[in-house]
Amino acid sequence: MRAVVFERFGEPAEVRQVPDPAPSEHGVVVRVEATGLCRSDWHGWQGHDPDITLPHVPGHELAGVVEAVGDRVDHWHPGDRVTVPFICACGTCPACAAGDQQVCERQTQPGFTHRGSFAEYVALEHADVNLVAVPEELSSGTAAALGCRFATAFRAVVTQGRLAAGEWVAVHGCGGVGLSAVMIAAASGARVVAVDVSAGALDLARKFGAAACVDASRVPDTAQAVRDLTGGGAHLSLDALGSPATCAASVNGLRRRGRHIQVGLLPSPTGTTAVPMARAIALELELLGSHGMAAHAYPPMLELVRAGVLRPDLLVTSTISLDAVPAALEAMGTAPGAGVTVIEPWKRS
Ligand SMILES: [Zn+2]
Ligand SMILES: [Zn+2]
Repeated sequence: MRAVVFERFGEPAEVRQVPDPAPSEHGVVVRVEATGLCRSDWHGWQGHDPDITLPHVPGHELAGVVEAVGDRVDHWHPGDRVTVPFICACGTCPACAAGDQQVCERQTQPGFTHRGSFAEYVALEHADVNLVAVPEELSSGTAAALGCRFATAFRAVVTQGRLAAGEWVAVHGCGGVGLSAVMIAAASGARVVAVDVSAGALDLARKFGAAACVDASRVPDTAQAVRDLTGGGAHLSLDALGSPATCAASVNGLRRRGRHIQVGLLPSPTGTTAVPMARAIALELELLGSHGMAAHAYPPMLELVRAGVLRPDLLVTSTISLDAVPAALEAMGTAPGAGVTVIEPWKRS
């Protein structure tokens, strides 16, 4: 099969022939119809992820058709159209037994712990735990965008964030996950303040329902700007970018008893950052992390997508072939860009 491969971190990737994957006994092989290009792929290529072994095939946001199933897979068959969370769970550890597959103790992640979906086929582990059927009305391109950014934003806003209608939400960082959060929060009846350094990203945030925007390249104190716009601070605030500055601004922009959700991965290898804990104590803030979303939690989100309340399709701004991936990966380093690029591995450029 054809796949995007890199031999060394940070050196140009290339498209070449590699052996087809085979399913493990609990796994499947999926013919990839669409796969999203995500900033995590860029981080992996740069060598920021200790799970990756070389040579490597990136790609973790995918949708496609089951091609082959392992002997011990019960629920899935060749021809089923599916997607997966980017965290594939084992199904048997204590976290999985508690229903928290998104923090599985033995998780696998295509495109990180093994070869991913920037390829014509991808192997996925523990299919009965991780596969999600894609409704007929949803294109594979749209479904691919659900597995990482959209599902992550959904869990962060709805489950971890416990957002209620009428509340103020601040979203710091309006890339794929941030714009998804803006859309989901606005659809939940909240009033959203979007914060970003890019005017283009803020235009999209406005289009997806943000009531107010803060241009962080022009405002010296974004937390103050959020507090001013929200009459004292947001009820819920997300750091959707992941940086010491956005994390602190998110916490500092909250009102009393507000909730901060850390969604963006922090750039340092340990993920350590300074958090304004004095404010967390004085205002009784809640600080929580959010990490993907388990396959079993998809149905309510898919129902809102099917009903047209949520429109992940609007996040997709370009569609490219495998051959265009090496250059697109490289471009992410200099121009993070708003919106979602979807790769169609069977498309010929
Ligand atoms: Zn991703
Ligand atoms: Zn597990």
